Amino acid sequence: MQSGMIYADHCATTKLCDEAMEAMLPFLRGSYGNPSQPYFFGRESRKAISEAREVIASCIHAEPEEIVFTSGGTESDNWVIKGTEGDVITTPIEHHAVLNSCEDIRRFGRNTFFIPVDGEGTADIRKLNAQAFDKAGLVSVMFANNELGTIEPVREITEAAHAKGLLFHTDAVQAVGHLPIDVKALNVDLLSASAHKFQGPKGAGFLYIRKGSRLRSFVTGGAQESGRRAGTENTAGIVGMAAALRKSCEQMEQARKHLTALEQIITQALDSAGTDYVRNGSAQHLPGVLNLSFRGKQGESLLHRMDLKGICISTGSACDSKNTELSHVLKAISLPEEYALGTVRISLGAENTVQEAQTIADALIEIC
Ligand code: PLP
Repeated sequence: MQSGMIYADHCATTKLCDEAMEAMLPFLRGSYGNPSQPYFFGRESRKAISEAREVIASCIHAEPEEIVFTSGGTESDNWVIKGTEGDVITTPIEHHAVLNSCEDIRRFGRNTFFIPVDGEGTADIRKLNAQAFDKAGLVSVMFANNELGTIEPVREITEAAHAKGLLFHTDAVQAVGHLPIDVKALNVDLLSASAHKFQGPKGAGFLYIRKGSRLRSFVTGGAQESGRRAGTENTAGIVGMAAALRKSCEQMEQARKHLTALEQIITQALDSAGTDYVRNGSAQHLPGVLNLSFRGKQGESLLHRMDLKGICISTGSACDSKNTELSHVLKAISLPEEYALGTVRISLGAENTVQEAQTIADALIEIC
């Protein structure tokens, strides 16, 4: 990181942790054997992948054979939407990896229905039009929203999906490593995750596929991952992801407390300065995520002025940061326009300090 820079965009990506780096190095240098090869050099990689699978499974209370490695959240989400049958029931505030996959399957005659969300971005399955269930095969609702931080009522929606005999998938890219996740207790069928959101490497992720769930292969070719996902495994990425997830899960509670304290520093400073803003999202939110709308301001201009002060924040989701139009998430929660246009997302990480939170607040107050 550049000296003096304050990084507060952890929903976009995170710094690789030392544990992940250490775990990866042997597989980037000496142990580069192909895990599919039967000789010792290949077996070494295979063993590392199998150990990583066990670590990851235990972090989300799954069985190791229910974890399939992918290239990240986007691939996992695409796989689920494109590998299932029937119409899809989802929310209007999903990541584009889900929404654009739903667009793609329209050419196969598969439609998408949206569960209404309230002003905090919480989905309410009871408000879904009953016709949506007629030809549906899948319900896909994110665990936590990447712009607002809102945690969705996943358990309740899973029950509703199962009551109709549908598969339930959750895009848990923002939640894994940050919130306790027990796939058995939640009873979800499919769950997507991405390593770079919890201090693992970019280009590595996984899909949890509950034993017995019907899902067609998406990436086809060789017989890797028990024939479910083809392609030579990203050994270093997988091993790094496991090390990062283990660390995140061990330190989760400590991180939650720290991040909650930092959030309060920022909101209290803004309140004391009489800043005209609203905080979006639900009280049930990802620790450290603040989605703030400043009245009469431009989010993009706030971002650039913060950047000039060496502070990295976002105007919405990472993919939307070049777009001056309101994000699909802000549109869905129907914020009044005079606030909506001035929206920024601050997403803090465990390494952010009290001093940095104060500096972020001071900078926002000064700019506003
Ligand atoms: N889903 C959500 C909720 C995300 O926030 C992101 C990334 O921002 C993705 C999916 C895509 O994940 P990846 O960057 O691993 O492809």
